[in-house]
Amino acid sequence: MSLLQIEGISKSFGGVQAVRNVSFGLQAGELLALIGPNGAGKSTTFNMVGGQLAPDSGRVRLAGRDITGLPPRAIWRLGVGRTFQIAQTFASLTVAENVQMALLSADRRIFAWWSRAAAHRRADALALLEQVGMRAQADRPCSELAYGDVKRVELAMALAHGPRLLLMDEPTAGMAPGERVALMQLARCIARERQMGVLFTEHSMDVVFGQADRVAVLVRGQLLAEGTPQQIRDDARVQQAYLGT
Ligand code: ADP
Ligand code: MG
Repeated sequence: MSLLQIEGISKSFGGVQAVRNVSFGLQAGELLALIGPNGAGKSTTFNMVGGQLAPDSGRVRLAGRDITGLPPRAIWRLGVGRTFQIAQTFASLTVAENVQMALLSADRRIFAWWSRAAAHRRADALALLEQVGMRAQADRPCSELAYGDVKRVELAMALAHGPRLLLMDEPTAGMAPGERVALMQLARCIARERQMGVLFTEHSMDVVFGQADRVAVLVRGQLLAEGTPQQIRDDARVQQAYLGT
């Protein structure tokens, strides 16, 4: 069974059909890049998976369970995490404190504030920071970090609730080319290790073709093609409509 199965979802805003009958699936441990020109419907698709938007029609299933139209918090609890285009950390808090905040909000027990010692939560935060290569910077305020490092902290924060599926909408926007590859390489290692699925959007073709296991191409709200990076690169329709070669 697929971790994520999108079945014929559509969404219109007034007269604009942003997403039209789109279907694709994603397996655990896999990185799927959703690519397409600006305005193709990528973010709208993400928002229908994350619950920020309800589809007009079609279904979204997570490990077989119908999550269509559930509110974002409910979908998050079922194991769908997300990172945002603009990194969202508390600048005045340290790196470790930011991750501790994320761990706290992921703790669903009543009295979570008292139920676990702060020291214990810090140890968990440091373990997550180790995974994203930010352990050495744990006690620096986020405001002092380079942008690419803030993105790593944000990834650690998104991992705090142990998502089964991570949505990353333009995670590398604003980053230098080398940093982009490094961030998605990291996401890929973590996805493999945790058997977590990652759905991401990305404009850099180096990152898409180098890091994704599969690629889905949206053009004007419709799924034009879906396959391995090699299949997508060789697809004449994709070349014509999008890659411009
Ligand atoms: P992408 O992320 O691929 O750039 P979007 O999903 O953001 O594309 O947008 C797809 C289309 O839907 C665009 O034409 C955009 O203008 C429109 N759109 C997206 N969100 C809204 C909204 N909240 N209200 C009206 N139109 C929207
Ligand atoms: Mg977008």
